[in-house]
Amino acid sequence: MKEKQIVLLGSTGSIGAQTLSVAKAHNIKVVALSVHSNTALLEELRRQYNVEPDNTCVSSENPDKLCELAAIKDCTVVNAIVGSAGLKPTLAAIEAGNPVALANKEALVAGGEIVMALANVNNVPVIPVDSEHSAIMQCLSGTTNKIHKIILTASGGAFYGYTKEQLKTVTKEQALQHPNWSMGAKITVDSATMMNKGLELIEAMHLFNTDESQIEVVIHPQSIIHSAVEFTDGTVIAQLSVPDMRLPIQYALTYPERLPSPAKRLSFAELGKLSFAAPDYDTFPLLRLAREAARLGGNAPCALNAANEAVVSLFLNSDDKIAFHEIPQTVEEIYNKIEKTENISLDIIEKTENEAVARL
Ligand code: NAD
Ligand code: MG
Repeated sequence: MKEKQIVLLGSTGSIGAQTLSVAKAHNIKVVALSVHSNTALLEELRRQYNVEPDNTCVSSENPDKLCELAAIKDCTVVNAIVGSAGLKPTLAAIEAGNPVALANKEALVAGGEIVMALANVNNVPVIPVDSEHSAIMQCLSGTTNKIHKIILTASGGAFYGYTKEQLKTVTKEQALQHPNWSMGAKITVDSATMMNKGLELIEAMHLFNTDESQIEVVIHPQSIIHSAVEFTDGTVIAQLSVPDMRLPIQYALTYPERLPSPAKRLSFAELGKLSFAAPDYDTFPLLRLAREAARLGGNAPCALNAANEAVVSLFLNSDDKIAFHEIPQTVEEIYNKIEKTENISLDIIEKTENEAVARL
């Protein structure tokens, strides 16, 4: 096998750091690195992974360079950027014929039609890193049968089982404590509001070419079953492992091969039991709103994502401008005000995102 080479966009984040550990363990060459602003860490990583100075990017200073790096020949591009800022580099990678190992779900939510159409025309794989979507891909391996239904599992986030009343007094610190995964701040808050599952639902529609109605969300607090696929005959195939992002990252880089991993192994006897429940759409209304946006299509998913990015950023970066329980309602208000279009294009995405920020 030819030596695998990667371009890693968003190298300082949670997925970025775990990608570097996977690369190190399996002699995958890191050809290029981006950070958003942490230049000291970039320099440290550059030296550690022997990356040429020209093949680095500080995206807050030079966002266009992300696209240049994504187009470096014969590389797989690991997109570990947070937010729809990851869309253009994803397109640049596909344009250059580079497979994309995609953690950056917001790119697909904002512009999934554009990404998947370009990937089809150029015959370039978009390989999911998100654990649920990696699970679905694994459930589908070796079958040409159509999906009847996707069962998208959700941990329920930090506030699973809370009532609307209880959500009124939760703190930012509590919202940033995920029960099963240690992740970046934005996705941790999205998990707590259940918006993350809404984004993942739209992500799954694009990756696996399904309708919104074919995706069932099920709460599974242990995060052992990472998702499942039901086929026409009623057979369900699920993928199980301990919750450790190094597994889906590694699989995205080595599939169809499986290589050893330092992740803990699953013990059914130790687990004892797994539990499941229907989501509470009333207490966590962003999941319902995501379904609505998914059905509408056009720029609606982009509008919802942009509204959510703006509101979550305000929640994370201001002291008390917005409380946790006000996030869904504020997102919905912005989303409702944004002009909806039937079609989607890069221009419409830019306009939609600017409108979301302006309406905050
Ligand atoms: P993070 O906040 O830890 O890291 C984000 C990275 O993106 C950092 O390197 C940061 O410097 C960079 N970045 C931030 N803003 C940027 C911008 N505007 N342009 C370019 N780069 C920018 O986030 P994370 O938890 O690693 O998540 C990254 C992506 O992966 C997200 O889309 C998230 O939803 C997805 N994801 C993460 C996990 C996880 O376990 N962390 C699991 C599944 C999916
Ligand atoms: Mg996920």
